Amino acid sequence: MNLKDTIRTIPDFPKPGIMYRDITTLLTNRRAFAQTIIDMSAPYQTKDIDNVAGIEARGFTVGGAIAYELGAGFVPIRKAGKLPFDTYAQDYDLEYGSDTLEIHADSIRKGERVLLVDDLIATGGTAEASIKLLLKAGAEIVGAAFIVDLPDLGGLARITKMGIPVTALVTYD
Ligand code: AMP
Repeated sequence: MNLKDTIRTIPDFPKPGIMYRDITTLLTNRRAFAQTIIDMSAPYQTKDIDNVAGIEARGFTVGGAIAYELGAGFVPIRKAGKLPFDTYAQDYDLEYGSDTLEIHADSIRKGERVLLVDDLIATGGTAEASIKLLLKAGAEIVGAAFIVDLPDLGGLARITKMGIPVTALVTYD
């Protein structure tokens, strides 16, 4: 099946000029969801992944399932103030202003092999902040996997330049 056909586009959300790629319609389609998990996991089946790190909130929807598929654990990367134990924090720039992501300081043992996942990569700012957190926590980052890539915004190239292989299932030019 063509996964792209199961993703809904909402023009001008959350503000004028943005084409919002809504994956909730993929998630509610059971065949599309299963294929997404299998296809996102496939390149990493032989890579001995210890933990999958998912970015709040839509990275959680695929992250737990990919972790199960790979026989790995799951590590949440969350917005500031949500994690209850000691954290590392990383600021990152948004189009207007900035935000902070956190990871539990003890979530990864030094040298553990980690796959980063999220629903979509645009500018790559969120992924880059997450990579910095994983490095602070001692991870060896094996790759970054997304459902959707928006290549015009340069995120995939930005993360690839950091030496991390990036995979995406659907592209919107
Ligand atoms: P970025 O940091 O620019 O790569 O943005 C990635 C984050 O913003 C992801 O968590 C996406 O869920 C969200 N995002 C950015 N642009 C879009 C878009 N056009 N449609 C849906 N989500 C988006």
